[in-house]
Amino acid sequence: MSLEDELTIKRRGLMLVLSSPSGAGKSTISRHLLENDPQFKLSVSVTTRQRRPSEIDGVHYHFMSVREFERTRDDDGLLEWAEVHGNFYGTPREPVEAAMAQGHDMLFDIDWQGAVQLNEKMRADIVSVFILPPSMAELKSRLTRRAEDTAEVIANRLDNARTEIEHWREYDYVVVNRDLGQAYREVQAIITAERLRRDRRHGLFDFVSDILDEKF
Ligand code: 5GP
Repeated sequence: MSLEDELTIKRRGLMLVLSSPSGAGKSTISRHLLENDPQFKLSVSVTTRQRRPSEIDGVHYHFMSVREFERTRDDDGLLEWAEVHGNFYGTPREPVEAAMAQGHDMLFDIDWQGAVQLNEKMRADIVSVFILPPSMAELKSRLTRRAEDTAEVIANRLDNARTEIEHWREYDYVVVNRDLGQAYREVQAIITAERLRRDRRHGLFDFVSDILDEKF
């Protein structure tokens, strides 16, 4: 399809929710997606957890105090929020609404509790993907290799991984991350198919009418 046709057929933006236990490769897949697909914008969450050395405030998260978090949440500033690993996390409402209004796609790196809340509010726009590790042993070794958390934090994350994985049925798609390249290609395939859905393509009616009216 030519660029002109793409412009005629305006597409409604999609909200891609990626969830997985930490260490299953979700962050890497998200990063590749944002680097390679300019239509996607990342929803930068707010959190009360400590910043990791590699993280930048405002890029990976907006880091804030519990008091600030509670104020934002109580002012209806969050589309969804949850307590994960003893810290608060939430999705700021305003940037999502602005990006969607401009026809962008949004990427959400959030847990199952957030996915449930977004599904309740915006079912038609949500595409949810759960990323599974190939095994718990591999998950543990990935978390240990990352070496950004203490042994206690890692043990806590493994406990939580089990709970997170138990929610796999609530997602539209499941990708097993045995090989990062393959998992990424599978996520891309999901996006391609979802973008082509008839109900996301507003201008399709006019486009098809033009084809049917064509004299040849
Ligand atoms: P981490 O502390 O490793 O960055 O994230 C821990 C978990 O919190 C991950 O599963 C991540 O997807 C989830 N998370 C991050 N931001 C949000 C958010 O805004 N809302 C919800 N519900 N979960 C989040």
